[in-house]
Amino acid sequence: MRLAKAIIASLFVYAAGANSAVTQGARPAACSNPNALGIARTVEIDTSGGPGFGFEQYKMHDFLMQREVVFTFDDGPWPNNTRAVLEALAHHCTKATFFPIGKHALWHPEILKEVAAAGHTIGGHTWSHANIGKMKGDKATEEIEKGFSAVKLALGAPPSPFFRFPFLQDPKDQLAYLGSRNIAVFSHDLDSFDFKMRKPEDVVKSVMTKLERKGKGIILMHDFQQATAKALGDLLNELKAKGYKVVHMKAKTPLATLAQWDDAAKGELKSPIGTDRPTSSVVRTIEDSSAKPVAATSAAPAKK
Ligand SMILES: [Zn+2]
Repeated sequence: MRLAKAIIASLFVYAAGANSAVTQGARPAACSNPNALGIARTVEIDTSGGPGFGFEQYKMHDFLMQREVVFTFDDGPWPNNTRAVLEALAHHCTKATFFPIGKHALWHPEILKEVAAAGHTIGGHTWSHANIGKMKGDKATEEIEKGFSAVKLALGAPPSPFFRFPFLQDPKDQLAYLGSRNIAVFSHDLDSFDFKMRKPEDVVKSVMTKLERKGKGIILMHDFQQATAKALGDLLNELKAKGYKVVHMKAKTPLATLAQWDDAAKGELKSPIGTDRPTSSVVRTIEDSSAKPVAATSAAPAKK
């Protein structure tokens, strides 16, 4: 019975994926790189009660097998670097989890939308990258919630209930709060310390050395960092050559952000006028001299 249910469930996921541009690349058929890492497994995380992941701090759920890795990228979205990370991941037809800063999400919503469109998982990393370990309760809660609401505002869709504390500073009262909000907390198994590095080769060496020692893990990197953006292609090639496999994490349900903090995030926009209308309904191409007679991305055919 259980097996039959699992098969039906996976068929459903496959069928849903086939209709979604967002999940393209998840299946090997869509990948043109014969040496791609791809995705070995996709796991669904039930965030009820706020489980913790990453053995650096939370030794509860060990879901990775030997030579399995999870990529996580913090502090974006950021011009150039985030897109370089996306390109390297796309070249390997693989996926990661991003923990963007709320402020950065509102500065560069177009980049964060590209992260989502490529099928990566997006959580939250506070509004302003504040050290929550040094904050009082209400202020800390505001950092968490406004961060998530800003990501939602930038994406036009709710993020996953996945959170990482800046500087990994996790006071007990905020851990309990996240639990009450059914938000999972992510530490890491392996810190690249990429933010201390200028040379891409140092990032590759840092990750590979630690990984060879630990054998598997959730890897903490930063799409904000230029050295990481430059290193990622080589790092992925090396992981593939050494037989590592990628696990992609997805949330069982999206985060229900709170109206109060959605409003607060909206209040941070410099020019909130008309922001609720999608660009495609505001700006429409009525004449296009480039080669294609019909715009492939146009939602409705242009009237003649
Ligand atoms: Zn950070």
